[in-house]
Amino acid sequence: MASLKIRDVKKSYGDLQVMHGVDLDVEEGEFVVFVGPSGCGKSTLLRMIAGLEEVTSGEISIGDKVVNEVAPAKRGVAMVFQSYALYPHMTVFNNMAFGLKQAKTPPKEIDRRVREAAEVLQITDYLDRSPRNLSGGQRQRVAIGRAIVRDPEVFLFDEPLSNLDAALRVQTRLEIARLHERLKSTMIYVTHDQVEAMTLADKIVVMRAGRVEQIGSPIDLYRNPSNAFVAQFIGSPK
Ligand code: ADP
Ligand code: MG
Repeated sequence: MASLKIRDVKKSYGDLQVMHGVDLDVEEGEFVVFVGPSGCGKSTLLRMIAGLEEVTSGEISIGDKVVNEVAPAKRGVAMVFQSYALYPHMTVFNNMAFGLKQAKTPPKEIDRRVREAAEVLQITDYLDRSPRNLSGGQRQRVAIGRAIVRDPEVFLFDEPLSNLDAALRVQTRLEIARLHERLKSTMIYVTHDQVEAMTLADKIVVMRAGRVEQIGSPIDLYRNPSNAFVAQFIGSPK
């Protein structure tokens, strides 16, 4: 696990500026949730932390290292997407092993790590199957497993439960909470779901139009929203 620092990060796509100077500190092992309306920049910020998108200006550090110029695979982060992003032509095992094979991890070590993660997520029975034959909930567990096997310093989740039905959303949310308790890793989690934010977060970052509107614990934000926008998003009483 590692801490994360974001300093005055700005982002433009061509002439369109979508991030206007974001500052954020995440402590080691903290569970931080980004919330905010569609288009406010949650995914962009996550992708910049992962290195899938360059920052236009500002600095991102993981641990004590500035990672602006560091390749995604070398940042010690693993990302879980809403769309699962699994390879349909590979077995579950090979999906989970893919990143480790790329990194030339010895096969025995790969086998050990994949089986351990599969056990945690209760997907051992599916290891030889194709993701095509799995339900949405099972696929998302494979995608989470693929992140776990890389033993990242920081987990990044981009609306991981959005494609699941209500019952599975609750179940998978509880699994992610249990995972955080077990691994004690730093986790950054994007959602537009109040319940997910309030129940998972040590700290919530409320975003609006490329800016941080307020940062605080769920109870802080609920009791002391700094304005009507935050109050509405967090569901504070009027
Ligand atoms: P969120 O995840 O909060 O819904 P995004 O980070 O996806 O928001 O998008 C933030 C803003 O950046 C939006 O205005 C979106 O249209 C714009 N945007 C995102 N990706 C691109 C891109 N590749 N090219 C141009 N504009 C983009
Ligand atoms: Mg998004």
